[in-house]
Amino acid sequence: MTHTRVLIIGSGPAGLTAAIYAARAQLSPIVIEGEPSSTSDQPGGQLMLTTDIENFPGFPEAISGPELMSRMRSQAERFGADLRINKVQRLDASSRPFRAWLSGDDEPSLTADAVIVATGARSLMMNVPGEERLLSHGLSTCATCDGFFFRGHDIAVVGGGDSAMEEALFLTRFATSVTVVHRRDSLRASRIMQERALGHEKIRFAWNSQVTEVLGENSVSGLRLRDTVSGDERVLDVTGVFVAIGHVPNTSVVNDLEVAMDPNGYVITGPGSRTAIDGLFAAGDVQDHVYRQAITSAGSGCVAAIDAERWLESQEF
Ligand code: NAP
Repeated sequence: MTHTRVLIIGSGPAGLTAAIYAARAQLSPIVIEGEPSSTSDQPGGQLMLTTDIENFPGFPEAISGPELMSRMRSQAERFGADLRINKVQRLDASSRPFRAWLSGDDEPSLTADAVIVATGARSLMMNVPGEERLLSHGLSTCATCDGFFFRGHDIAVVGGGDSAMEEALFLTRFATSVTVVHRRDSLRASRIMQERALGHEKIRFAWNSQVTEVLGENSVSGLRLRDTVSGDERVLDVTGVFVAIGHVPNTSVVNDLEVAMDPNGYVITGPGSRTAIDGLFAAGDVQDHVYRQAITSAGSGCVAAIDAERWLESQEF
């Protein structure tokens, strides 16, 4: 059994920023990073699936998501954070110190005075026939990871937000054409991303179109679309589809705890990063469905580390 003053769960920008601050405050945090095999808990979080980040201050020429996370990781380790590739499968916050069970543990293997939950969010899926079966067989949620395989293909991106525009623009590097399939007739994405996508010669738009089925035996051969206005059905012939319709928070570690959540399942925090449980803090996308940016996530990780540090100082252990 290992004891730590601060246990940080998650290694996206929130978790690693919290780790940098907690380590510099001499709290020797342990960071449980997640597991590479998992779609929702990969170390580094969602930025590992992101191409160029142009809006993280300090990188005027842009930086790739994996490179940014690698730098944050090195920075956390430089100040003594103990980063471990593993997953917290259960957390007991009913008594102190808090107890954590890692993958494969029958008994808790970690105890912590304070815990920062920074487990992020994951991609939403369409839940239509064919989607699960064809995942990784022409259907993907990550253009950065899989775009290369679609060189010369006609493909589709589902969604009308910034994620969908980002994926569509990135995929134009490989695909012959990219059709954005959106269920309404206007985009939700920010103006700059809309303009880039709408003005791109390789990007087409299937407006008012809802995917009802992903077609194909062993790999994607098309999408069945229903017109949301007329109800008419048609088939869009594509050999690849990228789903970019939003995210859900990764709350499995706190689901059984007395933590307050909003109707969408996001952890409620405040003041600062405090949750309903004393000594348990939350940062990043697991508690933010509004801003969801790398920079706001990093900022909230900083807030959580400072909150945890001050809370620890106020307690007698
Ligand atoms: P989002 O803004 O919530 O957009 C999700 C899109 O998917 C919406 O257009 C929505 O349609 C559609 N959708 C949702 N469920 C659907 C379903 N079941 N079937 C079909 N379509 C569905 O999510 P996001 O694009 O992932 O962006 C999330 C946040 O991250 C935003 O704040 C965004 O600005 C930010 N972000 C920023 C960048 C960047 O700055 N580079 C990149 C990516 C994301 P409706 O419009 O009809 O609701």
